Amino acid sequence: MKIFFLDQSGKPGGAELCLIDIAKPYQDNCLVGLFADGSFKNLLEENQIPVEILTNNQIQVRKESNLAQGLGSITQLLPLIQKVAKIARNYDLIYANTQKALVVGALASFISRRPLVYHLHDILSPAHFSKTNRMIAVNLANKFASLIIANSLASKDAFIAAGGNPKLTEVVYNGFDSQLYQIDPFETNTLRDNLEITDKFVVGHFSRLSPWKGQHILIEALVKSPPQVIILLVGDALFGEKDYVDKLHQQVAKLGLENRVKFLGFRDDIPQLMAACNLIAHTSTAPEPFGRVIVEAMLSAKPVIAAKAGGAVELIEPGIDGFLVTPGEPEELAQVITSCVENPDTTNQLAISAKQNASKRFDVSIINQQIAKLLQQFSSN
Ligand code: UDP
Repeated sequence: MKIFFLDQSGKPGGAELCLIDIAKPYQDNCLVGLFADGSFKNLLEENQIPVEILTNNQIQVRKESNLAQGLGSITQLLPLIQKVAKIARNYDLIYANTQKALVVGALASFISRRPLVYHLHDILSPAHFSKTNRMIAVNLANKFASLIIANSLASKDAFIAAGGNPKLTEVVYNGFDSQLYQIDPFETNTLRDNLEITDKFVVGHFSRLSPWKGQHILIEALVKSPPQVIILLVGDALFGEKDYVDKLHQQVAKLGLENRVKFLGFRDDIPQLMAACNLIAHTSTAPEPFGRVIVEAMLSAKPVIAAKAGGAVELIEPGIDGFLVTPGEPEELAQVITSCVENPDTTNQLAISAKQNASKRFDVSIINQQIAKLLQQFSSN
């Protein structure tokens, strides 16, 4: 089976990291076409996955675009659509991994007469996308896709609520290699020394810095948490949310928390950093489509507190393998953090269950088999 993957991003967000795992089994028979250059290309190359940058023009359409902007952007995309259609003729299938990839892939699939698979990594709700964007995505997916793979029930339900065709849609969770999260304790101690967090209770937050990821909620919760608690904020503003980064720094300064909040920027040693934490917090204020960091925390055998909405609810069984709290409520978050500090034995037990459950449910080889089975129908062999 020859697959032509499409992704709009040059930077590695959750959808892109998931694509690496999906494309790897096809590395001898696939191409990943990107609509922007950047570090995601390097990551694909490091994984021996063929990659090509398909355009140097920035695609203007944004999550909040209106109809005129949306339609205007389609005209602007025509040369890219033609290029994709031409390349697609050498492949069995076009696999669109993001929304702009869906727009391009849908029309290219029509021109090249190749089937289209759309991997839906988003919750198509008003909290995340404008009406126009939802309408374009749902109509293109319904009309042109032969299969839609949703990354959670939450994403599938939102797609159907927005008018998406339920008969085309299957849920497949992200897969993970649990071996990557086995870190040598000596390495962890060294990292804790280097970060100067040895005697602290470390709460890690792993996400791009963006208002809806809710880093400000965790900083607010820190004020009400025991004094030995500190926060590591891991991630950067991937999609231009520089104002939010400034606001976070101002919030920390205003609350006098400079010694208790460390901004580490974007990192590629997530398993090592998670191992160096005592607890991991996920604080999205809008429903998370899946929440890779939640599973990664579970695989790291760390207690995880997640915002109770979207995909997070499918990943954690509260009180059994993690904690769920009301999104956007720093008081409640602080209470759960405090209880974890005060009850390490119970919390560690729960983290051990989390590792066991996540290793079984999100094993990358099983998830890849599920995808291979779904894609089998498009094989020309
Ligand atoms: N991540 C990373 N480096 C960072 C911060 C985050 O590699 O500095 C990874 C994180 O480990 C996770 C992904 O980025 O695998 C984020 O995926 P998630 O589903 O949590 O959120 P998304 O970016 O898709 O909204």
